[in-house]
Amino acid sequence: MRKPSEYEQHVKIDLHIHSTASDGSLSPLEILNAARDLNLGAIAITDHDTIDGSKDALAAGIPSSLKFLTGVEISAAPPPSFSFSGSMHILGYAVRLDDSDLIHTLDLLQSSRKNRNPQIIDRLNDLGIHVSLNEVLNEAGENGQVGRPHIAQVMIKNGFVKSINEAFDRFLGVGKPAYVDKYRIDSNQVIEIIRGAGGLPVLAHPVLLQLEKDTALEKLIRTLKEMGLKGIEVYYPEHTPEQIAYYAKLADRHDLLVTGGTDFHGSLKPDIMMGTGRGNLHIPYELYEKLIRANS
Ligand code: AMP
Ligand code: ZN
Ligand code: FE
Ligand code: FE
Repeated sequence: MRKPSEYEQHVKIDLHIHSTASDGSLSPLEILNAARDLNLGAIAITDHDTIDGSKDALAAGIPSSLKFLTGVEISAAPPPSFSFSGSMHILGYAVRLDDSDLIHTLDLLQSSRKNRNPQIIDRLNDLGIHVSLNEVLNEAGENGQVGRPHIAQVMIKNGFVKSINEAFDRFLGVGKPAYVDKYRIDSNQVIEIIRGAGGLPVLAHPVLLQLEKDTALEKLIRTLKEMGLKGIEVYYPEHTPEQIAYYAKLADRHDLLVTGGTDFHGSLKPDIMMGTGRGNLHIPYELYEKLIRANS
């Protein structure tokens, strides 16, 4: 096997970034500029249920020092016979932005968000938390996909909670009083749609599945791989060094690519910095190269 160059080992990448097209606070152009200023080697914009962030970044022009992958993050229903308390997110990398099946699926997910947000707001209002749909839409900005972090932001502005975390912990998180389940597509369908658009489906942040046993995770990974999964997001701010080592081992054992990203959301996730997460994440450039090679 070829030895990675100095550049491939020392330059950092960040393949999980949210923009104003979903629930990030920086526009795609601001993300490109920030990534360039941080000397990142490659990034991907992976908004929830939309490829508009990737589209806008390409239209704005990618700085010459930076490599860019199109991306999307889609919530998936677990395969039959699997159940877990956390949520399963699948990242799609290097998807063709004009793929009609992908566009159609994202349209569907976007309209289901439009139904879900007012339901969450109704529940909050019933609990005496005054938040209006208009305030939330304003918070999300024009054309942005609205999500719970925007609702949390309005709750802070209106003085009901002090932080986004508090809003999730007390009201918006799974099982909390204002939680409304999201419409999810089956995992095999999510994987097929990403592959159909020429992309690489990757299991995002395995720790957030909240699977109790490592054996259950391995079983899930085996099942997803049979469906066409191509990689695992091994590097992630919430993963401990032990988890990173374990997920890397799983990827190796199942012949899956390793990816990593910070899940940067700007001020909507204020503890997380682009490129470094909580300050100590180093996702080597060579992972980007392997991803590209796998997709060529
Ligand atoms: P939604 O798209 O409405 O389902 O919201 C998903 C977003 O909420 C993701 O960007 C997560 O980062 C964020 N999120 C989910 N759970 C929590 C939590 N417990 N605390 C803070 N943010 C969260
Ligand atoms: Zn998000
Ligand atoms: Fe996610
Ligand atoms: Fe994310």
